[in-house]
Amino acid sequence: MTEIDYQMHIYAASRAGLLEKIAAAMSAKRFEHVLRVEEMALRLAECWGVPAELASLAALVHDYAKERPDADFLLVIEQEGLDPTLRDWGNNVWHGVVGAELVKSELGIMHEEILDAMRQHTVGAAHMTKLSQILYMADYIELGRTFPGVEEVRALAFDDLAASVGWQTQHTLKYLIEKSVPVYPGTLTTYNAWSV
Ligand code: GDP
Ligand code: FE
Ligand code: FE
Ligand code: FE
Repeated sequence: MTEIDYQMHIYAASRAGLLEKIAAAMSAKRFEHVLRVEEMALRLAECWGVPAELASLAALVHDYAKERPDADFLLVIEQEGLDPTLRDWGNNVWHGVVGAELVKSELGIMHEEILDAMRQHTVGAAHMTKLSQILYMADYIELGRTFPGVEEVRALAFDDLAASVGWQTQHTLKYLIEKSVPVYPGTLTTYNAWSV
């Protein structure tokens, strides 16, 4: 298990308490995914010179809201005055973009770069910090993922992080179109900014 103490100004409470709250918010299977994302995010953070505690926290919270009912997200969109067109999407888009507000209010994570990484972990963004790129990739290449090409993109993430972001975005876009799933405009923005 990872042993990380968070500096007060980044996260003021204990790792053990945070893990408890995250585990209580999701199935055991998803919590195991979260821990594997943390492990991969820490490896990428070391490779790309990003502070371990930021990578750890971003990974731990990234799917916190994934098992919430739709009504919770619709309420947050209204109460926080988020873009009203978000109402037209669903859990896949909401759990990151909207879920970050729940991580703020319920888990007390206030670090904006961590929250942005969570907001961007599914759909990306035109401008992504190294931390945000690391979370986007760690979620995709954690050791439990088995899709065709995963070993290639795993290696690429350690060799050329930006190229791996482009790789993932292109493959996700192809997959969504193949399955006739609606593409969130932010995903297209990410594709246009990052694909080579
Ligand atoms: P997970 O939460 O660990 O399963 O992974 P992600 O948060 O990265 O992705 C959640 C789901 O969102 C996946 O099934 C993606 O294929 C899907 N997804 C990614 N981009 C889009 C998009 O633009 N539109 C829609 N509708 N789904 C998307
Ligand atoms: Fe997710
Ligand atoms: Fe992802
Ligand atoms: Fe995830």
